[in-house]
Amino acid sequence: METNLAEFIKNTPEGREADAILRKCVHCGFCTATCPTYLLLGDELDGPRGRIYLMKQVLEGKPATVKTQLHLDRCLTCRSCETTCPSGVEYGRLLEIGRPVVDAQVGRSAGETAARSALRTAIPRASVFSPLLKLGQFARPFLFGALKRKIPPLARTTAWPVAAHARKMLVLEGCVQPSLSPNTNAAAARVLDKLGISLVRAAPAGCCGAVSYHLNAQEEGLDYMRRNIDAWWPYIEAGAEAIVMTASGCGAMVAEYGHLLARDPAYAEKAARVSALMKDISEIIAAEKDRVRTLLNSSLITHHSSLAFHPPCTLQHGLKMKGQVEKLLIEMGFDLTRVPDAHLCCGSAGTYSILQPALSQQLLKNKIAALNSGQPSAIITANIGCQSYLQTATGLPVMHWIEALDARLG
Ligand code: SF4
Ligand code: SF4
Repeated sequence: METNLAEFIKNTPEGREADAILRKCVHCGFCTATCPTYLLLGDELDGPRGRIYLMKQVLEGKPATVKTQLHLDRCLTCRSCETTCPSGVEYGRLLEIGRPVVDAQVGRSAGETAARSALRTAIPRASVFSPLLKLGQFARPFLFGALKRKIPPLARTTAWPVAAHARKMLVLEGCVQPSLSPNTNAAAARVLDKLGISLVRAAPAGCCGAVSYHLNAQEEGLDYMRRNIDAWWPYIEAGAEAIVMTASGCGAMVAEYGHLLARDPAYAEKAARVSALMKDISEIIAAEKDRVRTLLNSSLITHHSSLAFHPPCTLQHGLKMKGQVEKLLIEMGFDLTRVPDAHLCCGSAGTYSILQPALSQQLLKNKIAALNSGQPSAIITANIGCQSYLQTATGLPVMHWIEALDARLG
């Protein structure tokens, strides 16, 4: 489509990037059919094409309104529209450019600002999140109903093998995963240990930066990214083969480090290297598939139960790995149930479940119904945000698929 960006942004790097993205959109509307919020609300402005049009107007100089902000706030950033778009429109990047412009013009109420600031303080910092979670877990036995379901029970910590192999890979611990599901990375470490690879944690690395970055505190998000790069760099120089992600939300963010820090002379080169080294755990297992199958064949543990796999949006739309984990699991002998509408978001979407609870709960209800439809004995996924959110609405166990593989290997 034709564009005529306003002077305030036209000649900036963001303006040039937004212009190139907007010009790719031919307004065909194919994307609306796979947009979760359009499917729920049926309003063109709550679908990707409408939101692209709203952002175009603002970037061309039309003042943003509270209504513009509302339609952008309702977007999950799930990027399902990107997977559908035949023209390769990078909607997610456009939103990252458009949202701060709208927020700067419209502002936010004191309550909204405080809520967003509290989320940015509590979630990325394990030193804040972990004690808060423990407090909730202490009170859990005295709570009932929905409130009780929102607080996960205490998760047990499991053994992490000694790093004895010559082959070494880094793993990102992230912010909330060590408290909510410490077994995920430990399971990944045990599986890789059996494959002759030691998984190493670099202590100062933490939040990938996504929480701040997606809440429009982009400089703060970039600082988290720089801190992780500094933490990983000595290990990379020492020969770490990959930076393994067991949360696809973090993976999708780390994949962007190179692009987002490209204009930072001190970090551009390192960030590009880090993004190139980032691998979802499924990519590591896929490369060692034959050895995993041999190990599974010699395992004394037998499992015949069927599992429902929920592919997180960050895995299928962000990292563009649609169908890959499902294929790998089937090749390794897992019995997966058929899950309808697998392309749709579960409603977790970072902080969306807190900031847009009504829409988020509807998406969760639909997702649980879809996952239950094949009568699985457990639900497996690939991102801690989805895992925790799904667990609030089902009595079935929900876990990362690497935990299921670890259990089968014994
Ligand atoms: S984003 Fe893609 S699918 Fe959607 S209207 Fe534009 S060109 Fe069509
Ligand atoms: S990112 Fe998701 S919610 Fe947002 S417009 Fe695209 S499909 Fe819709």
